[in-house]
Parts: sequence; C-alpha cells; structure tokens
Amino acid sequence: LFITFEGPDGSGKTTQIQRLAAELESRGIPYLLTREPGGTEIGDQIRTLVLNPAHSELTDKTEILLYAASRSQHIAQKIMPAIQKGQVVLCDRYIDASIAYQGYGLEQPIEMVRQINDFATGGMSPDRTYLIDVSPEVGRQRMKRRAGAPEAGATQAADELDRIESRAFAYHRRVRKGFLAIYEENKKRIRLINGEQEPEQIFQTIVSDFFSLINQ
Ligand code: C5P
Ligand code: MG
Repeated sequence: LFITFEGPDGSGKTTQIQRLAAELESRGIPYLLTREPGGTEIGDQIRTLVLNPAHSELTDKTEILLYAASRSQHIAQKIMPAIQKGQVVLCDRYIDASIAYQGYGLEQPIEMVRQINDFATGGMSPDRTYLIDVSPEVGRQRMKRRAGAPEAGATQAADELDRIESRAFAYHRRVRKGFLAIYEENKKRIRLINGEQEPEQIFQTIVSDFFSLINQ
C-alpha cells in the first residue's frame, strides 16, 4: 500500500504523517515513513540543493528536473523495495506536489511536468493521498512558528523560510489552487481534508479512512 500526504506549506501534513506512523508502529503493522525531496542519500543532497535560499539562480526547469531526479532515486531505492516487502509506504509529498508547485505555482506546462514524473517513477501512483488544505495565510503563520524550531537537518537558519516557502503569496495561492484542481481530477484516490480543523479531528479522519482501505 502506497500512501502519500500532500498540501501547501504549513498544512500540518508532517505532523499527521508522523501520527499515522506511530499508530502503525503501535499496531505492529510494518511500514516505511519517508519524504520528498529526500528519502535517500542522493535525494537528501538534491533537497539541500533545491531548498537552499542562496540558490536564486536555479531555473524553473532545473527545479522540475531536480525534484523528479530525487523522486526517481526514491522510487527505485526505497519505495518499490518496501512495497515488495509488503510494507505500508507513508510518503510526505510525491508527484502531486510537483504538479502543484512547479506546474501551477511556477506556471510551467502541467502535461510536461506530468510526463517527466511518469518517466522518473515508471508511472507509480499512490493508492491513497491525503490532501490537507490550508489557505496561504494560515500556512504562512504556521511556517513561521515552525521556523523558530526547525526540524533536524534543516538547511535554513532558525528564523528563515526555505527557498520555496519564502516565495510570494501569489505563488502559494497558485499552488493551493493547483492542489484543489488535482483533487477535482482524482477524487477516487485523494481525500481532501480541511487543515484548519483541530489536529486531532484531522487525525481521526485519516485513521478511519486508512483502516477502511487496509481492511478492503
Ligand atoms: O514537505 P516540505 O514542506 O518539507 O517540503 C520542502 C519544501 O519543498 C517546501 O518548501 C515545498 O514547498 C517544496 N517543494 C516544492 N516542490 C515539490 C516538493 C516540495 O516546491 N515538488
Ligand atoms: Mg514545508
């Protein structure tokens, strides 16, 4: 089972994916918790490269290709082997993020972004995607709070946002719109969740959907 979590920056998806992983852990269900960009040594180096706020010269096309390169490595080295072992794969971001951020956000051709990612992944699609939606305004507030207490391995200083997060609101509005458009086209795969609810309520929605999926 391949499960992805998506949403704008500051949506709370990382908190939710960690809670679901803890739930699987406590029930003894084998899983792999991973994230993009990153998840492999090569992917983590690409993550550092692409998120470094100093890299203002990075072109939109390079950005698309770097995310796809990280994803290709990730699929081959981590995700496929885990699925073959029967593990539940929980992945923080996947192709939808590239469609939303690089396609809609950077206004690059959506169909091209899709094709590049199909090539990178061999067309591997998630069984379920939890899309946690928040407005850019709420997302920005949460990012700032998080930036004061950065996750381990963060590439930016404590009070800074990464290269993508610090883009203008107009960009983040296009990204959000992109995620919602992707949802409209993939209602069977994607569960759309209002990220402005209480975290506990969001978690209950995810857990009950997840267990109905796994028990099918
Ligand atoms: O999921 P997380 O917020 O840690 O992602 C790190 C950064 O990468 C975020 O700023 C996110 O917006 C950006 N990103 C992106 N395009 C992708 C995947 C992630 O711009 N395809
Ligand atoms: Mg983020």
